[in-house]
Amino acid sequence: MEQKFGDNPVEVRDTEHYKDEYNEGFVDKWDELINWDSRAESEGNFFIDALRQRGAKKILDVSTGTGFNAVRLVEAGFQVTCVDGSAEMLAKAFDNGWDRGHILRVVQADWRWLNRDIHGKYDAVICLGNSLTHLFKERDRRKALAEFYAALRHDGVLILDQRNYDAILDEGFSSKHKHYYCGDTVSAEPEYVDDGLARFRYEFSDNSVYHLNMFPLRKDYTRNLMHEVGFQKITTYGDFDPNYDPSNVDFYLHIAEKY
Ligand code: SAM
Repeated sequence: MEQKFGDNPVEVRDTEHYKDEYNEGFVDKWDELINWDSRAESEGNFFIDALRQRGAKKILDVSTGTGFNAVRLVEAGFQVTCVDGSAEMLAKAFDNGWDRGHILRVVQADWRWLNRDIHGKYDAVICLGNSLTHLFKERDRRKALAEFYAALRHDGVLILDQRNYDAILDEGFSSKHKHYYCGDTVSAEPEYVDDGLARFRYEFSDNSVYHLNMFPLRKDYTRNLMHEVGFQKITTYGDFDPNYDPSNVDFYLHIAEKY
């Protein structure tokens, strides 16, 4: 199933476009890309431990995708509500949960109007798998982060990750290395990058090719926005390590405390 990027794909810089990008074809492939077993191995118990240390029980996963984090947290005993703006993603998450013996609580909602559809307050909001990158306007990012803030209890925590775009933007094309997932079966590489767009190309074992157009969030920019919407303390890890070398990190993870 083809994605629709039109005649000039690098001009597609639109917050709404994620729903077209995660079409049925790409959603079906997503689990090959993220490979649940190897992802569980590389994450270890980082999120479970971080949430338990803070006494969090009620978790809002705002970028559920196909349900990897939500299912792991349910299996670890957390009470999880699964949000995503993409109906295709949520349907897949529900099926994945069902196959593992769980009935996931799913809510379709756009982050920018999250609290219209979500009621009650949560101990933690998680936004993982490089998701905030889908918002192309600063106004949208502020609105989404403010909605995450509002969904939290007074001492709640936001856990949000992002790709290390600083390295991609600053160190030129040579550093934009190809990432192989699931052994060599899936490759992901930046095809085009400028200050306003990172267009990644994903090629799967059956030779099908999909793309994502994303906004290249710089680490300090994301941290500042989180401060500006009200988060008091933000701790950033590089590939799960508090002591990291910025040019060798693939992913940053921010833990933003409300209190
Ligand atoms: N967390 C999952 C993972 O790690 O596998 C999925 C990550 S995927 C890169 C990003 C997810 O964010 C997609 O499922 C997409 O539908 C969702 N998303 C993007 N923009 C959104 C928005 N404005 N509101 C709600 N969900 C959105």
